[in-house]
Amino acid sequence: MPLVIAMDGPSGSGKSSASKGVARALGLRYLDTGAMYRAMTWWMLRAGVPVDDAAAVAARVAEPVIESGTDPDGPTITVDGTDVAEPIRTREVTNAVSAVSSVPAVRERLVALQREIIGTGGIVVEGRDIGTVVAPDAPVKVYLTASEEVRAARRAKDLTADPAASVTVTQAEQARRDRLDSTRTASPLAKAGDAAEIDSTGLSLVEVIEAVVHLAKERD
Ligand code: C5P
Repeated sequence: MPLVIAMDGPSGSGKSSASKGVARALGLRYLDTGAMYRAMTWWMLRAGVPVDDAAAVAARVAEPVIESGTDPDGPTITVDGTDVAEPIRTREVTNAVSAVSSVPAVRERLVALQREIIGTGGIVVEGRDIGTVVAPDAPVKVYLTASEEVRAARRAKDLTADPAASVTVTQAEQARRDRLDSTRTASPLAKAGDAAEIDSTGLSLVEVIEAVVHLAKERD
């Protein structure tokens, strides 16, 4: 079976940089499933759908055309042909995404799209439920963690353009998002039983990438 590497973990654990680095090192494609949930959320907000109303969200779920480009050197995300790479990273979208991603109809549609993109493999896929739900047969599964402080600092760095994004605010918003993502009924954030847990708190990015590449080579 061609390689599928499932990379799950909470926000700010360093999944994106590590996943792209692993894909580059092994010549694989790269899929950011979080960007797909963000794109769906961006579209719902733009369409004026009340995102806390699960029925209202479910009723519109089939409408946006969401497309992901899987080159690790330049991953892309579009909604109805519009590049949304920047607007999906705003605090407005970040603070609404957990509500949208907890709606089963949203997950059904996006998981189907993700499986289509994964196809026969050769890809690193990052998210929250890749090892548990999207690709339970993936030969390599990683659950990436980091201390809360390190995760908040990484997130705050991502949001330096936003004056309200102090470490304290980011930490509170992130804790709320992780709580919602871990406690929802529909495929919550969870470590797959057969996933290797890597704590990136004291590791450099290169060390994390090396650890995952090593796992992939071991299981090849
Ligand atoms: O990874 P990122 O922080 O961009 O993900 C944004 C949100 O998308 C998460 O907080 C979560 O609510 C949702 N998500 C999910 N399942 C995935 C990936 C992301 O529910 N596989």
